[in-house]
Formats: sequence, C-alpha cells, structure tokens
Amino acid sequence: MSAVLEQTRPLEDFLVMPDAEVAESIEAARAHLGKRVVILGHHYQRDDVVKHADLTGDSYQLSVMASQTDAEFIVFCGVHFMAESANILGKPGQRVILPDLGAGCSMADMATVEQVEDAWEQLAAIGVLDQKVAPITYMNSSAAIKAFCGRNEGVVCTSSNAVPLFDIYLKQFDKMFFFPDQHLGRNTGAKFGIPLEKMALWNPHQELGGNTEQELLDAKLILWRGHCSVHGRFKPWHVDKIRDEVPGIQVLVHPECMREVVEKSDLDGSTSFIIKTVENSASGSKWAIGTEVNLVNRLQQRFPDKEIHLLAPDLCMCATMYRIAPQNLAWAMDNLLGGNVVNEIVVDDETRHFANVALARMIDLTENK
Ligand code: SF4
Repeated sequence: MSAVLEQTRPLEDFLVMPDAEVAESIEAARAHLGKRVVILGHHYQRDDVVKHADLTGDSYQLSVMASQTDAEFIVFCGVHFMAESANILGKPGQRVILPDLGAGCSMADMATVEQVEDAWEQLAAIGVLDQKVAPITYMNSSAAIKAFCGRNEGVVCTSSNAVPLFDIYLKQFDKMFFFPDQHLGRNTGAKFGIPLEKMALWNPHQELGGNTEQELLDAKLILWRGHCSVHGRFKPWHVDKIRDEVPGIQVLVHPECMREVVEKSDLDGSTSFIIKTVENSASGSKWAIGTEVNLVNRLQQRFPDKEIHLLAPDLCMCATMYRIAPQNLAWAMDNLLGGNVVNEIVVDDETRHFANVALARMIDLTENK
C-alpha cells in the first residue's frame, strides 16, 4: 500500500516556468540538498529528465544503487513499481519520492494481487496446487504481487536473471505460474524447450483463465496474460522490413517482445544486455533495436560510428514513464528543499517483509552463487 503525504507547494507554479528555469531550479535544489538526495533516472526516461539524474540504470539496478548511498531522499524518475522496489530495498529511513503519482506501468497494472489470489484459489480448487507450483513474478509488478510470491515459495526475476531462475525452478517444481508478462515468460520457457502447448495463458477475466482443467493440470508454465504496451508494438514484419532495407543488419530485441519477434531476431536480452552488446560491437556494425525509443536514441548519440536503428521507426515511447517531466522533478525537489516530502511511496511493513523474502531468494539464487 502506498501513502501520499500532504503537498504544500503547487505544481502549477512549475508548469508555467520556462524550461531553462525549471532545469536551474532542479540543479539549485540539488546543490542545496547535496548528498541528502539522490535522483534516479531509468534508462527509458526522457533526456530532459535523465540529464539531472545522479544514477541511471534499470529498475532493480537503480534500487540497489540507491540503497548503497547514504541519501535520505531517493527521487525515482521511473514508474510506480520501481519506486516501491526502491522503498523495499532501501535502507531504514530512506524516503522514496515519485515525482508524478500518475506514472504507472501498464504491464504491472495488468495483474492485481486480488486477481492473482483468485487465480491461485481456482488452481487449488481443481487440484493443480497438489502439484508443486511456484509463483514467479517479473520485477515489473506491484509490491503486493512480489509479496504473494514471497509467501508461496516463489521468487522475483528480472529480464537479466529470468533464465538462471527458470533453470532452478523448473528442476525443483512441477510447474511455474509467471506474472505479469506473458512474453518474457514464454520467451524464457522456450529457451528450456517447453513447447507452446505446455504453456497455458491465464486470462484473469475468464473462469480458469480461459483454460480447461486438463490444460492447467498438464501445463508446465502458466503465463499471466499481461504485456508491455511499448515492446508489444514490435511485430515480426518490422524485422523482415529492416533486414530488407539494411543488408547486414543485426536485430537485437528485449524479451518483453512477442515470441514471433524474438524468434526472428539475432539476439534478445535485458536492457543492460542490449547496451553492453552495442558497446562491445565493432565500429561500423549495424543494429536494429527493439526496445524503448529513448534508450535507442541515446545509443545512437553515444555511438555515431555504428548504424543504429529503432526496429519500428513509428513506435512511441513509454507513455507512463513520460509523465515524469522536468516540471514534476523540479516541484518535488523544491518541496524537499522546503522540508516537504511530496508523493512519497511507502510499502506497508507486511508487504515489504514478504516482497523482500521473494527478492532475497532471487539474490541468493543468482548473485550469491
Ligand atoms: S516500457 Fe513497458 S514494462 Fe516498462 S514501464 Fe513502460 S509499460 Fe511498463
């Protein structure tokens, strides 16, 4: 559960400021606050916000890096579930601020904990839970769903460590229930040779998720019917088209893309994998990248010696992340300067405890090896 503290200075004051003044206001507040504040900028965040970030990265990386600072205030320029994760992983006393509470994640919102608990009860009622079933959630989910996994022997995964965690869980459990991104689940399951007929898709708006009892009993992987509205827009024909137009191009996509796109690509992996792959590639190499546009634009700027294309040139950015504008950041920082914590994200103690159980399992099974 999240709590919002009282807002004492109007955002409207910042909305009418010229852009240069907004940027100056952020930097002035940062200079005054010094090490008391750390500003986090997700890789998919817009340039005019990222330029103010002390740290950039993906959601899990950023939460870990922020927890390693002594900052009192973590201003997370990302989306809601990321700020929750920073609160869960943060040191005692660190307070997390989301500059716009409307910055959600359409994928995370596709699975509520009530729906997940209902699905679990339905699985129990038909005997599926008589088998050993592990709930696994992608980092891009609410704290409540992470806690659900923590309570039920499950784990959290990122797009970087989904493969090693699937490897472990597939050996120890009869099946896995994966939330909320069907594509990451399906793409990872396919790496282990699980055939599509053994992957049931759970539609939370239908009885038994739209499956028969037998299909659920036989499934090795049950995939929640969620997806990323940004990565879901890449289509297989985009891959065919760019290969026709740019001979020798290599296609590199995020595993949140649909299976058919991943199958046609040369490589797939997390945001960090995408960045490292381009960093380490030869000068003159050609890449078509299937991920959020702001990240691809920054890679183009960083590597002018490489030919970098967005896989689908008409693709829009992550609209919810885009809600964090410099004006929101300036407003949050100015309030901090005045001693007011606005838009604080606080996960309740019980949810934090069990979400931490699932996160600690992830760390133990992957990083402490
Ligand atoms: S890019 Fe997709 S998964 Fe990431 S925050 Fe935006 S909607 Fe959510």
